[in-house]
Amino acid sequence: MTGNRTFTMIKPDAVENGHIGAILEKITAAGFKIVAMKYTQLSVRDAQGFYAVHSERPFFGELVEFMTRGPIVAAILEKDNAVEDFRALIGATNPAEAAEGTIRKLFATSIGENAVHGSDSDENAAIEGAFHFAGREVF
Ligand code: ATP
Ligand code: MG
Repeated sequence: MTGNRTFTMIKPDAVENGHIGAILEKITAAGFKIVAMKYTQLSVRDAQGFYAVHSERPFFGELVEFMTRGPIVAAILEKDNAVEDFRALIGATNPAEAAEGTIRKLFATSIGENAVHGSDSDENAAIEGAFHFAGREVF
């Protein structure tokens, strides 16, 4: 990945609340092209690995339980400046602090259950995308 791709998950809360379609609409309307996508569920081991950077945080157990409790949509998205532009589209981690019109402002319910994930660097976007998708699943 060369700076034009990011990785996202529509998290279990947004799936449970019926927001998959609306969130994908926001993503594509903002100019992101979906180059890989699947409906899947994280195992406990997957979630612990994915969020390993937070393993010492007090909310880690809650985060792993949340992320594994139901299916997610995982996708790789393409656009110029993808990582930064997608973080802007989703808004702040805490929906109470997220800007108007952002995905988290519209669809998230709390700092823990915040509807979507967005990679925080090109390097992590590549790692996270490769975690979920084989080469033949990326277009
Ligand atoms: P993500 O990595 O999921 O895109 P983010 O980069 O905005 O979110 P991080 O700091 O990486 O935020 O935190 C990862 C996830 O951990 C958050 O999205 C949220 O689900 C959970 N989280 C973060 N801070 C808290 C907190 N104070 N209390 C509960 N859960 C939290
Ligand atoms: Mg993060």
